Amino acid sequence: MKSFLLFCLSLYVVAAKHEIYDGYVVYEAYPKSIDEIELLNDVANELGLDIWSHANLDKPGEFFVSESQKLPFEDTMKSIGISYKVTVENIREMLELEDQKLAAAATSSRNSNTSRLSLDEIYTVNQVNHYLADIAGRFPRVTRLVNGGSSVEGRTIQYLEISTTGIQNTRKPVIVLQSLLHAREWVTLPPALYAIHKLVVDVTESDVLNNFDWIILPIVNPDGYAWSHSNARFWRKNRRSGLMIGNFCLGVDLNRNFNINWGTASSSNVCMDTFHGRGPNSEPETQVVVNVLNRFSGRVAMYIDLHSFGSMILYGWGNGTLAPNALSLNVGGVRMAQAIDAVKWPQKPNYRVGNIVAVLQYRASGGASDFAQANGIPFSYTYELPGLLGAGSNNINSFLVDPSFIRQAAVETWAGIVAGARHVWNVL
Ligand SMILES: [Zn+2]
Repeated sequence: MKSFLLFCLSLYVVAAKHEIYDGYVVYEAYPKSIDEIELLNDVANELGLDIWSHANLDKPGEFFVSESQKLPFEDTMKSIGISYKVTVENIREMLELEDQKLAAAATSSRNSNTSRLSLDEIYTVNQVNHYLADIAGRFPRVTRLVNGGSSVEGRTIQYLEISTTGIQNTRKPVIVLQSLLHAREWVTLPPALYAIHKLVVDVTESDVLNNFDWIILPIVNPDGYAWSHSNARFWRKNRRSGLMIGNFCLGVDLNRNFNINWGTASSSNVCMDTFHGRGPNSEPETQVVVNVLNRFSGRVAMYIDLHSFGSMILYGWGNGTLAPNALSLNVGGVRMAQAIDAVKWPQKPNYRVGNIVAVLQYRASGGASDFAQANGIPFSYTYELPGLLGAGSNNINSFLVDPSFIRQAAVETWAGIVAGARHVWNVL
């Protein structure tokens, strides 16, 4: 009887898990000019919408809209004359499908796979910490696990140093790779863990291991990431609370919090997904990244911040102006994109490379890769990994992960990182 009750309880928990997204839909909107794109972005910000994908002239904008926002959204679109349609009626079904597929893949992987890094599942915070500790324990000559600091809720933010010569050699260039600054972008985690695997366990590109020291920070935002597993799959920010008296919204968008043009193209509204925080570098998660860059000041040759989605490699500045070395940044970006495109799944789009504003037609301040670039790192990039394209009859991109793509995401992103590292080495 007791086990039956537990069984019923677990079914209830599973069924209730995505309740908060009841009534949410995904819209696509189709602006036809740069002016309409800007108008659409303005309107979306005014309505406080969660913009999943910014529109450009080649692709529609994608918006995640709650039940109460539907009518205002549709009325506004009609009044400004931009056509739109609903692409996902019931997001909860897609979330439940994602849960089922990931759980099934993880179970079969544990039964059959003897390698220690599973590329059939999305690790939780604890699994990642376990993996990092395991690597550091097994390969003490080339790795060291560092506690970079604590998150708002007190979780440890860890990164792995990888060096064949001891990390102290100040003449050796460093590459910094990070993921999960944005909590819901789950597909970015396996590539970061796979990079560790390819630099430590299964080394087939020994030049990039020997030529560089590596810093790999797989979960910059552990609180948000844990929350996206336990409570809200589409959570993006960290979990900073107490930001505004009488206001229950919480969380800071860490990729708007860095001390670079802070507050100029982000939201001052704590309820928005692009809320920039109380001040530049105010968040402990941001500070961990800042400290890493300071610690290796003058040595970091390339910085890659993994995000999803959209199949893009972007560089600064987030206000649309170009860094003095923009041409060189572009060449490096193109090399990486070509390497990824050469091994990508045919049904996925080719990567696009460019300045963030030129590619996306929207400005963003306080971004991590802009901060890195401003701090003298010559090759600083934001990757936007491919989204899950097509769920059932819906041909849309989303943050959801199909387990069949996890290994591919890891392998193709690694191809890009290797191409980038080799390019940087050749031009240093
Ligand atoms: Zn992101």
